[in-house]
Amino acid sequence: MKADPFVQLRLLDLQALDTSLDQLRHRRRTLPELAEITRLEGLVEGLRDAVVAAETELSDLQREQDRFEREIEQVRARKARDEERLGSGAITNPKQLQDMEHEVATLTRRQSDLEDGELEVMEKVEEVQGRLDALLTERARHTADREAAEQRRDTAFAEIDADIARTTDERAQTAATFPPDLLALYEKVREKTGGVGAAAIGHGRCGGCRLDLMNNELADIRTAAVDDVLRHEECGRIMVRTAESGL
Ligand SMILES: [Zn+2]
Repeated sequence: MKADPFVQLRLLDLQALDTSLDQLRHRRRTLPELAEITRLEGLVEGLRDAVVAAETELSDLQREQDRFEREIEQVRARKARDEERLGSGAITNPKQLQDMEHEVATLTRRQSDLEDGELEVMEKVEEVQGRLDALLTERARHTADREAAEQRRDTAFAEIDADIARTTDERAQTAATFPPDLLALYEKVREKTGGVGAAAIGHGRCGGCRLDLMNNELADIRTAAVDDVLRHEECGRIMVRTAESGL
């Protein structure tokens, strides 16, 4: 393939733009915030089961406490009724009086037992509530950290995307100035090598794969016509001769 040596030189400009674009895309893909967001999502997700377990335990305990309160209320009401009757002097039968006093004593014991039970449940409620609060605080902290990381990610994305848009534009304008066959070759090589399609010769090396050129290769390069498009046999890349190539 033939191409004007100045056009060949400008392949290096095109390559520089493509390399910039590759780097920008790589930066976008590997932004530290992305890993940070995934890590924080994992932490929030990891707390889910513990939060659900504590919430379930807490609502069970609260139901138990309600049950105690209802029972205490019933016992208290019945005792108050009995005491009122006892105090009213309406009961005169000694056996009946004794039975009622016995019932009041039983109810008093029952109330005390129920109150002890409720107290125990209330202590458990407090403990579980404390545990749940700690879990929720931790989750809120991770969520806030994640949101902050998402904001930093979006800011970085906006900057990178603006750079990508600008560079893509410049790349398109530059690419449009090349003869189609040279551009097609460059792009084919670039695709095959995963990035570098054209590189300068320097210090006796191919600038693409950085392998030393052999003497016979250097001799061929020196005798080639200036408009010959040279390829490195080893890596297939287009080798561009520049003023610094030292040929
Ligand atoms: Zn090479």
